[in-house]
Amino acid sequence: GGTVRFENVRFAYDAGREILKGVTFEVPAGRTVAIVGPSGAGKSTLSRLLFRFYDISSGRITIDGQDIRGVRQESLRAAIGMVPQDTVLFNDTIAYNIRYGRPDASEAEVEEAARLAQIDGFIRATPKGYRTEVGERGLKLSGGEKQRVAIARTILKAPPILVLDEATSALDSHTEKDIQDALERVSEGRTTLVIAHRLSTVVAADEILVLAEGRVAERGCHAELLARG
Ligand code: ADP
Ligand code: ADP
Repeated sequence: GGTVRFENVRFAYDAGREILKGVTFEVPAGRTVAIVGPSGAGKSTLSRLLFRFYDISSGRITIDGQDIRGVRQESLRAAIGMVPQDTVLFNDTIAYNIRYGRPDASEAEVEEAARLAQIDGFIRATPKGYRTEVGERGLKLSGGEKQRVAIARTILKAPPILVLDEATSALDSHTEKDIQDALERVSEGRTTLVIAHRLSTVVAADEILVLAEGRVAERGCHAELLARG
C-alpha cells in the first residue's frame, strides 16, 4: 500500500498569496516521483501538507484512497518518513536520535543504519543543540552530518512512504554519492516523493513533475523533460 494522491489541491499560508493553485499528481505505491521547481515554488509546502501541518483550502490529499483529513497526525508520522532540508536533533546521543521513531530497534540495527548513513564513527556523542550546558560538552555537527542522522533514522524506520526534501543537499559531493545509494536502497519498493531543485539530481525517478506558479507545469521522465529543455 501507500499510494499518495494530491487532487486539485489549493493552498495559501494564512490569508496570504495562494501558493498552490490546483495541484494534481499521484505517487503510485512503491514508485518514486520527484518534484522539481524553482525556490519558492511550494515544493516543501507539499510535503508539509502531507503531514497535515496545515489545512488545504480545497481539493483532497489521499493515502490509499483515504482522505488524510480523517487520519491522525501520529498515524501520518508513523507511515511517512521524512528527510527534511534542515534536521533538528534531540539533545541526546546520535544513537538516540537515530532510534527515535523505532524505539524497539536493536543496537545492531541502529549501528547498521548509522553505517549506511556514514555516521557510525560518533553515534555515542551528543549533538550541540538546545541546552548550552550539555551543548558545550557536546559535538558540533555540520548540516551534512545532521542530515545523515536524519537519513539513518529513516533507514532504520523504513516507513511505507518516504519524503526526501533535498535529502543530500547539505552533503559534499564525495559523500553525496554514497548517501544517494543508501537512499535508493531504502526507497526501493517504498512510495517515495523526492523534492529537488535540479533535474540532474532525480534521474532515477519514475516520474518528474515540474512545479511552477502554483501548478504542475510539466511532467515526464528525466529523458522526456531533458528533450523538451
Ligand atoms: P520551495 O520548497 O519550492 O522552495 P516553499 O514550499 O518552501 O517552496 O515555499 C513556497 C512559498 O511559501 C514561498 O513563497 C515561501 O516564502 C512561502 N512560505 C513558506 N513557508 C511559509 C510559512 N510558514 N508562512 C508563510 N509563507 C510561507
Ligand atoms: P513521532 O512519531 O513521535 O510523532 P516525530 O514527530 O518527530 O515523531 O517524527 C516522526 C517522523 O516524522 C520522522 O521521520 C521525522 O523525520 C518526521 N518529521 C518530524 N517533524 C517533521 C517536520 N516538521 N516535517 C516533516 N517531517 C517531520
